[in-house]
Amino acid sequence: MDLPVVNHEDYFAKIGDDHKFPINKFGELANYLIQNKIVKKFHKPYACSLETLSYAHSKNYISNVKNKTLSKEEVKKIGFPLVDSVVQRSLVATGGTVLASKLAINYGISCNTAGGSHHANYNGGAGYCVFNDVAVAAHYLLNRGLANKILIVDLDVHQGNGNSEIFKENRSVFTFSMHSKTNYPAKKSNINQENFDFVFYIAGVDIHFNDRLGKLKISDEGIKSRDELVIENFFSKRIPFCGVLGGGYNKDFNKLVELHSILHKSCAKCIGL
Ligand SMILES: [Zn+2]
Repeated sequence: MDLPVVNHEDYFAKIGDDHKFPINKFGELANYLIQNKIVKKFHKPYACSLETLSYAHSKNYISNVKNKTLSKEEVKKIGFPLVDSVVQRSLVATGGTVLASKLAINYGISCNTAGGSHHANYNGGAGYCVFNDVAVAAHYLLNRGLANKILIVDLDVHQGNGNSEIFKENRSVFTFSMHSKTNYPAKKSNINQENFDFVFYIAGVDIHFNDRLGKLKISDEGIKSRDELVIENFFSKRIPFCGVLGGGYNKDFNKLVELHSILHKSCAKCIGL
C-alpha cells in the first residue's frame, strides 16, 4: 500500500514575497515528496463546506473570513493579509485535513501536506491560523460516527491553545500538547490518558535548533526519532492515524522542506515494515 497523502496547489497563497511566513514550503514539500518517490499521486481535497466548518467555528467568524470583513485587529492577530488566496487556502487546507482523516479511517494512516492550525479558536484565528483544521476534522469524525474518542498529539513548539479551548467541554477529544515552556502562549493545559480510536498528530518542526520562532534545540535526528516513535506507537496499535504539518520557520528554506517531509517519510516507512 502507498501512503495516502493529501495536497492541493491552493495551499500556496499570495501573502507577499517579503512575508515572514514561508508560504512557498507547501508547494516545495509537494515537489520534494514526488521527486523522492515518497508519494506517487496526491489525493486532492475540496474547499471545506460551511456546514463542516461550523462544527468548530462560529458562523459569524466563518462569514467574516469568506467575505473578508474581519476587523483590522482580527486580521492582525492572524498575521496573514485577508486576500482571496488566503481565504481559499484556509478553506482547502481545512478540507485537506478532513479528507486525510477519512483516508486514515479507510487505510489506517494518512497525511496532509498542510494543517495543524492549532491557534485558531471558535471565534477567531491567531498566529498564522485561520481555521482550526484538526478541530474541524475531529468534529466531522465524531458527527459521522467514524470515531468516538479522539486524541490530538500536538508536538509543535507552541501550545495547541485553539484545540484545548474548542474541546474544553468535550470529553470525546483530548489534546496532548507538549511544547516549549518559554514559547507563546504562557498558559498550559493538563495531560491525561484514555483509550482512543483515532489520532491526529501535529508534527511541527519549529522545535528544530535553527528555527526562527522556536526556542528548543532539537536536531534533524531528534525530529526523525520523535516522528517514528509517535507514528509506530499508534500504527502498531492499529489506531487510525492522521499526520498534519504544524509549524516550521527554519532559517534554511531547503532544510525546512526536508524537515517537514520527515512526517511523510516516517509514515511511509511504517507501512513498509
Ligand atoms: Zn508552532
